[in-house]
Amino acid sequence: MPHLRGYPMALGAFKYVFCILFFGLAAPQNPTSMNNSAVIIPIGGIDRATLDNLATILGKRFNLPFKVEVPMEIPDYAFNSDRGQYNSNDVLKELRRYKKRRVLGIIDRDLYVPELNFVFGQADLQGQCALISTIRLRQEFYGLPEDDKIFFERTVKEAVHELGHTYGLRHCSNSKCVMFFSNSLPDTDRKESSFCKSCLKEPAE
Ligand SMILES: [Zn+2]
Ligand SMILES: [Zn+2]
Repeated sequence: MPHLRGYPMALGAFKYVFCILFFGLAAPQNPTSMNNSAVIIPIGGIDRATLDNLATILGKRFNLPFKVEVPMEIPDYAFNSDRGQYNSNDVLKELRRYKKRRVLGIIDRDLYVPELNFVFGQADLQGQCALISTIRLRQEFYGLPEDDKIFFERTVKEAVHELGHTYGLRHCSNSKCVMFFSNSLPDTDRKESSFCKSCLKEPAE
């Protein structure tokens, strides 16, 4: 099971929120310049059925239609050959170029931020952009038999969790809530893909 072995650097001028799932940075909102739609940006090849099913579920969770956009190329500029991973901060920066109400990037490569061994995802707290990596959500990553159902459920939870941060939600102590801080994949598997009552009460935007 993956564990958080790295530690974040001291807080700087930015507002960071930590979790094993993400490493967030507040970004200013500028609603007037934003198109009203929400998009999923596949980065590299991602299975189309997964994307379409994810878009449907996210649309319901956030009461906002999500459209699957044209895929972005695998970001070579973000690749760190020493680590064999992609720098999540660099990919997120690229996603911020999409002027949409919500942007979810999804990549099937391993992500990291310099302070941590890897990240499952990252989001701009109260911003527009979130990014998830699906590679560590696969059973086969851990030498187990492939399981599409588990993989898709984890992908949905990751996506809803990271997008939840863009709505300003912090981690929740309810272990069934999607905003629960997962320490491990079993934690992720135990929680649900929906918000608990108290998270639902938070202001939406
Ligand atoms: Zn989180
Ligand atoms: Zn909650």
